Amino acid sequence: AAQEKAFLVRQPRSRALHERARQRLAGGATSSWQIAAPQPVWLSHGVGAHVYDVDGTEYVDMHGGYGVSVVGHAHPAVAAAIRERAGRGTHFAQPTEDAIVVAEELARRFGQPLWRFANSGTEATMDAVHLMRAVTGRDLILKVEGCYHGHHDSVQVSVLPDADEVGPAGRPAASASNSGIPQAIRDLVIVVGFNDLDAVHRALVEHPGRVAGMILEPVMMNAGIIPPLPGYLAGLADLLHAHGALLAFDEVKTGLTVAAGGATERYGVTPDLICLAKALGGGVPTAAIGGSDAVMGAIADGRYDQVGTFNGNPLAMAAARATLTDVLTPAAYTRLDALSARLAAGIRTKIAGQPWQVVVVGAKGCLTFAPETPRDYRDFLRVDGALSHAHWLVQHNNGVFLPPWGKSEQWLISVQHDEADVDRFVDNVGLFVAALD
Ligand code: PLP
Repeated sequence: AAQEKAFLVRQPRSRALHERARQRLAGGATSSWQIAAPQPVWLSHGVGAHVYDVDGTEYVDMHGGYGVSVVGHAHPAVAAAIRERAGRGTHFAQPTEDAIVVAEELARRFGQPLWRFANSGTEATMDAVHLMRAVTGRDLILKVEGCYHGHHDSVQVSVLPDADEVGPAGRPAASASNSGIPQAIRDLVIVVGFNDLDAVHRALVEHPGRVAGMILEPVMMNAGIIPPLPGYLAGLADLLHAHGALLAFDEVKTGLTVAAGGATERYGVTPDLICLAKALGGGVPTAAIGGSDAVMGAIADGRYDQVGTFNGNPLAMAAARATLTDVLTPAAYTRLDALSARLAAGIRTKIAGQPWQVVVVGAKGCLTFAPETPRDYRDFLRVDGALSHAHWLVQHNNGVFLPPWGKSEQWLISVQHDEADVDRFVDNVGLFVAALD
């Protein structure tokens, strides 16, 4: 309670803006997930690894705009590319050469030959689901309990179900995750647990010739962080292919942050389709979908129209080109790994003796308040939400900006963070532990 009070006392201007916003912005924010307790924090600007709120408080930014800002803020190379493009026109709805450069770089990193662009993670995963259905001529989709893939109809199923909604172990219920999604759409989604190959096998056998494919986050990152068990991702590819179905990795969070070639590179399993967004545009909205000749060929030969006025927008492509070729170099990933290792080691020292886990994958990580790293969403439900929120408040009140959704989210380190930045997080963990005693 004292930390909540301190939070509110520090942000009078944020509160005033929120009150004003409520008159004209539904709910007082620009996305429903910006409305988190105790109140939305209104930011004024970001430079390097730091953001500044409208009350003048500076923070080390480890929110990264929900996992976007692996280049940090106002990176000189990205800002220069945006400025240069802005001076030559930002939109034509005709492709510009940067789109080829970005696609070539993505093909090199992710090992899939053909790419298209979109504008958000939602659009990329929507295209992936459509493509799996278009190519196979089948309707059913497998989806993992607890994975978030954006807000289109087919994937708004069992995203963050409550304990009383999940259904029996081994056979998760396809629960509604938002209003406005018809039951008829949910009936086309079979929900399986993460790291559960048997459930996938059973679904394929019980619905012969009807499953188009499976979409999942290769590392679950909307339930803290849940890594895949050894053999899980490769096992999925084998099972699905044996039944004529496809595999799509939603790398909206993992792509470009857990390795240069995302989880696809890190775990050595190349799916049929890869969805990217968030970090790709260096802070400008864009997304990509890439895949094999066999699957993306459905776009090339006109079986599936992958369309959008802003697809491959020149401003976004210029920012993505600078992000990939100038900023996220091999040296940048080495640096991110070193900072992550320092951060994880520092936290482990501070939490020695506590039954908590530090889970780090590339530039992403989280402190999980549970005696073991979760293996699936059912385990994640047992992570201590109250402790997660209390830790978040201590970090915030002591100058580290993190995503507000407690145990669901994780931190992101950028190429502009330095040792002092990650050490501030570690020091705050120390404050948090000390306050518990
Ligand atoms: N997929 C994953 C794994 C995500 O985390 C998100 C957003 O958080 C999305 C898809 C949707 O992306 P967007 O918000 O850009 O539509």
